[in-house]
Amino acid sequence: MIDTHCHLAGPAFPDPRAVLDRARSLGVLGVVAVGSDPASNLAVLALAARHPGEVWAALGLHPERLDLGEAAFEAVEAQILGFRQDLIAVGEVGLPWYRLEGRADARDLMRAAKARLRRLLELARRLDLAVSLHAPHGAAEEALELLEAVGVERAVFHWHKGPPEVTRRIVGRGYFVSLTPEAAYRERDRELAREVPLEQLVAESDGPWAFGGEFEGRAGEPGMVARVAEAVAEVKGLPVPEVAEQLLVNSRRCFGVTP
Ligand SMILES: [Zn+2]
Repeated sequence: MIDTHCHLAGPAFPDPRAVLDRARSLGVLGVVAVGSDPASNLAVLALAARHPGEVWAALGLHPERLDLGEAAFEAVEAQILGFRQDLIAVGEVGLPWYRLEGRADARDLMRAAKARLRRLLELARRLDLAVSLHAPHGAAEEALELLEAVGVERAVFHWHKGPPEVTRRIVGRGYFVSLTPEAAYRERDRELAREVPLEQLVAESDGPWAFGGEFEGRAGEPGMVARVAEAVAEVKGLPVPEVAEQLLVNSRRCFGVTP
């Protein structure tokens, strides 16, 4: 399997080699490392260069980082263009949701975020890169409409939490939906695993995000996505190896990577 979304180049992972070895021992053979801002993007590039065939680079601008202004945005655009040959995806990008809560200027912020996302999606399409999208809850529909308008072909709704009718449209358009280790213990995510066809699911840790349930008290990391395959297998009534194999095939189709 592959972990399709992890902040592996961040300070939470001082020893990525040990993390990758633990993952490998659980059948997780590679990681898509995502960036959030110009500095973390550079760290992602350095990490991917140190682990070829095992860590792949996605550069982005985290949409909940409302503190990042136009200069940061333009720097990220320049990085994506400049490092095209070293990238497999644009991400983490998307639309804000959590940080808009309770803000009087939420509508203006959302409008500005949509304009930025459109530019990043146009770049991804032009450069033939996949997209790792942060668009939780009510933001999912707006992100889907932008993907359709721009004509992006390969995209993942990372840690998807949109309403069921939007999920059906995402699936109908051929985009991917990713499940985190929450699928092991949370009904909302198990329902998603049930609803989305196996051919359109991928797995991610979103490490170092700290999950609950059996993962309580540990930082999220790539090896945990092995539990996603087991959860999907349980929910869909399929053998674990078959599910793990299909998740790998899906990750390859979406990101064009081979461990
Ligand atoms: Zn993330």
